[in-house]
Amino acid sequence: MDKFNILRCLLLGLTAVTGDQLVLNQHNAVRKALCDNVTHAVIGFITWINVHYYLGQMTFFSNRLLVQSLVCGVISSAIDVDHFIAAQSLHIKDATSLSKRPFLHCTTLPLAVALVLLLLGCHLRSATFEAFGWMLLASFLSHHIRDAARRGFWLWPFGSTVPLGSGLYISLTVLLPLLLSYGVIYTNGVFGRLKSHQATVSVV
Ligand SMILES: [Zn+2]
Repeated sequence: MDKFNILRCLLLGLTAVTGDQLVLNQHNAVRKALCDNVTHAVIGFITWINVHYYLGQMTFFSNRLLVQSLVCGVISSAIDVDHFIAAQSLHIKDATSLSKRPFLHCTTLPLAVALVLLLLGCHLRSATFEAFGWMLLASFLSHHIRDAARRGFWLWPFGSTVPLGSGLYISLTVLLPLLLSYGVIYTNGVFGRLKSHQATVSVV
């Protein structure tokens, strides 16, 4: 693994650790929720950048990469809006004291939607559908992995896993872009074969 890949892994891990520390140090509920949400957004943003770097040559300043990464960050952040929908309230206290997890926190949902998008992308030969499928996975899974540190994955209708704990959560957060880039390569769709990507994952 080259030193830039190590730095990108470190950046992702450090963002997660620093974000969690910031959340822990907040005593005001609104600030706590804001720090938590911004951390999700930044991790979603960096996750997609790292997926692209593992795939190949795209530069940081590519407009498309920047827009896609921003979309991932916004989706990662917006997932928590389901707390307010489930609570039917705009008060942070109601949103954070739900008796069960709200619907966008069910990991089966993005997996199913992404699968449909990837199959559609394959059938229609559409890089846009495929890219959106992988972006959904990057934003939802990065959010769900972070939440799973304390609560596990909710895999309706199969049940839930045990909480991951900090070590496994940070490891999975760092590994997620690599796993997604392998997914892009091995499904060999139109998105993975874009000229801006290399044919192999460039981690060695
Ligand atoms: Zn959440």
